[in-house]
Amino acid sequence: MVKLYRVCQMCNGDGKVGEGGVQDCPRCGGLGYSLLGKTDYPGHIYPSYKVFECIDAGEYDGLIQKQQEGVRIILSLGMVDLSAETSAKTKLWNWFGEGTATRAALETLIS
Ligand SMILES: [Zn+2]
Repeated sequence: MVKLYRVCQMCNGDGKVGEGGVQDCPRCGGLGYSLLGKTDYPGHIYPSYKVFECIDAGEYDGLIQKQQEGVRIILSLGMVDLSAETSAKTKLWNWFGEGTATRAALETLIS
């Protein structure tokens, strides 16, 4: 179970904005985090920079152009859901097969 906790960028999680932090942040309504952060999602959601770190440069170079473009699309999502059956996971697991460094890193990420 991954608990999403997305700190509000506008108030930095304080929930207050303005001089001395007197006013409820209009973006998060004073909660300090987004609505998404209040929800438990039974999945594997990761910021794309974490997924990017898993990708071996040489293995990426070895993909065909369409696959490379697919990887870029997935990384551009911002948050990547690597739960079972998601399109992102299915594609990445197909493109980076068993035994590749990328697959091993991705498996470690979601474990
Ligand atoms: Zn806020």
